[in-house]
Formats: sequence, C-alpha cells, structure tokens
Amino acid sequence: MANPFLGGLDFLNHTIKHWNQPATEAFWENDFCQFAYRANGVLSVKPHQSEKPPLILSAGIHGNETLPIEWLNLTVMRLINDEQTLSRPVLFVLGNPKAMSLQQRFESLNLNRLFCGEWRNQDQSNYETRRAELLENVISGFYQDEKRFSPKDWLHLDLHTAIRGSFREKFAVYPFVKDRTAPEYLPKMLKQAGVESLLLMHKEANTFSSYTSRKFGMESLTIELGKVKPFGQNSQEDLVDFNQTLLGYLAGNLDTKSQDPEIFCVDKEIIHCGEGFELNLSESGFNFTEYPPETWIWKEHNKEKGKEGYTQWIVFPNTQVPKGQRAGLILRKSP
Ligand SMILES: [Zn+2]
Repeated sequence: MANPFLGGLDFLNHTIKHWNQPATEAFWENDFCQFAYRANGVLSVKPHQSEKPPLILSAGIHGNETLPIEWLNLTVMRLINDEQTLSRPVLFVLGNPKAMSLQQRFESLNLNRLFCGEWRNQDQSNYETRRAELLENVISGFYQDEKRFSPKDWLHLDLHTAIRGSFREKFAVYPFVKDRTAPEYLPKMLKQAGVESLLLMHKEANTFSSYTSRKFGMESLTIELGKVKPFGQNSQEDLVDFNQTLLGYLAGNLDTKSQDPEIFCVDKEIIHCGEGFELNLSESGFNFTEYPPETWIWKEHNKEKGKEGYTQWIVFPNTQVPKGQRAGLILRKSP
C-alpha cells in the first residue's frame, strides 16, 4: 500500500480516525527516506543510508497530552513532505489513539503503568492492555531491524505534559536501571532543548521509557513539556528550543550547550498513612514546590515529617491515593 497520508489526513488525524481498525501495513519512499507504517499510530522512517544510531520518539501515551502529540505529527509530516534531513532510523509512536480520540488521559487503565510485561497481569479485553502488548512488540521488531547499533547508543524520548502546574515547566525523568549513569551528551542535549531539570529515579518502574531501558539497555527519558491543553489550543512557540534541538538530532548535527540542567535525585517517598495525613502544599499543588531547610513537608498521624537541614522539593503530589500508596516524591539536588 502507498503512503496513506496523502488523502488529506495527516499522521495524527489518520491515527485517531482509524484507532478501531486493524492498520494495513504500508511501505513507500521518497528521495531521502523509506517509510513503513507498522500499526495504528506507529511509523518507522529510515534514511536510505543511515550512519547514526536509532531514535524512538513517542507521545500520547496519555491521550490528552496534546502539545507533544501535535509536535510529533508536524515532525513526521516534515519528513513525509521532504522538508527535513534525516541521518538515523526513527520510530514514531502515538501511544494511545483511542484515548486521543476521546480527548482523555486513558480509557480504563493508565497505559504508562503497563509496560515491562505488566499488561499480562491485567484484563486482556482492555484497550490499554492490548495496546501495551502491541507497543512492546513494535519496539522489539524495530530493535531487531537495527540491531547493528549498540543499545547504549539508542535513545528513546517519551513526551508528555503534566496535569498540574510546575515551578519548573519542562523537566525530564531518567528511569532507574541498576548500575548505570547517563552518558555525558544527554543532560547537555536536554539543556539545549530547554529542559532545565533532570530527575534521576530511585527504583524500577513499568513506564514506557523504563521498558526500553530495562529490556534493551537503551538510553531513555520521560519528558514533561508543559501543561495539558485540548487539541488545537497549544502554541508550538512553547517548544522552539526543543524543536530546534530535536530537528538537529534527526539531521545528525546535534549542537549542545556546555552546561548541564539542574539534576535532582529522590530523597524520600511519601506514603499515605490514612488518618492524620496531610501534605504541606498550597491548593494548587505545583510540581517542584520548594521546602527550605527545617520545613515540614507532610503529616503522618498528625506529626510533622520531612524536616531536613537542606532544601527539598516535591513532585507528583497526590493526597487522593488510597492508604499505603505513594502521595509524592521528595527531591534534593544531586551532589
Ligand atoms: Zn503523561
């Protein structure tokens, strides 16, 4: 089948319109690249001669996080329309087309908790369960195709926007894998892309970016790029630095700043204790709310907790979780 994005539907609209139909594989090429449409919302693009290691770009794992979804679509269409140079194989993934069509975060299960095989433990009739399985298979297939590159040189960027506000608008999360450290270029590339903060996680998770690093040993990041807005209400102006850096990376001429972003590590995990639990937060509950030294952060059975002799920050605060679950992560600056 020829290029399915010629009939007036771009990659994004085509993906949403056909979320419920089995995708017909399609293969075509232009002067610079070969295209393979693998599944609904999944497109691989390879330059006729690729010298550089592969990249996986995903967005819409949460269906209502529209700014990076729209950015990814524009980037795909630049390649299809011969407007962008490419030096490396790229797999583009729109994560949750059904949730995107519903303009919701997910339909019944949070897709970003189902990777690393966790989907096997869920109701197999759920859309998200089947989607996690499909995405794992698609990544494995792409990995097999490009196996000549060392996994450490691969990069997966999983793009999101946040529900709550943040005192640091753009930040990246580096999944935990035992005994590894980020290569030198990665924080510098983030800084160049306007991502000012990097958070090093402290234990393994089942997110999409955890899957590519835990299963294959790729470098990967979850990147938060701003706030959730409906389709059509975003400004790509908010991603100018990000866009410039990523288009450079696609073309193979990455220009990085010499500075690093601020680097944070997890200091504590707050667990909801049930009765007498409270977070020391304003109503808005922003990410990166700052606690100066000797400030309490939460109350456990009405007793103040979390005071330290150094500054701390909170991310992902949530007081609505059931007893025994995580109500937030406390960070400190990485030494
Ligand atoms: Zn998200």
